[in-house]
Amino acid sequence: MGEAERGEAAPRQAVSYFCSRGHSAVVTFAVEAVVPDSWDCPKCGLPAGRDSENAPPATKIEPYKTHLAYVKERRSDQEAQDILDEALQLLRSRRKSGDLIF
Ligand SMILES: [Zn+2]
Repeated sequence: MGEAERGEAAPRQAVSYFCSRGHSAVVTFAVEAVVPDSWDCPKCGLPAGRDSENAPPATKIEPYKTHLAYVKERRSDQEAQDILDEALQLLRSRRKSGDLIF
């Protein structure tokens, strides 16, 4: 009964995956599940394989580029700062109107 209370009714297996950037991730599967050969690395999004010595090549091109990275790439720092200011002002004006309502 104690085991059921801990939510461990279904036996599980932990599988390690390794990406080409040297990250490792442990993913837990039900024992009866078919364990996939590859998994997206939760840290960088690159494909990760089960063989630590032979991680799959990074075929995707920077899949986890952040929105800020895009902004910085396309615009000068000053423009990025302007966008940030604009967003902050919008946020503040929204908050102000919210104060009026309540
Ligand atoms: Zn990774």
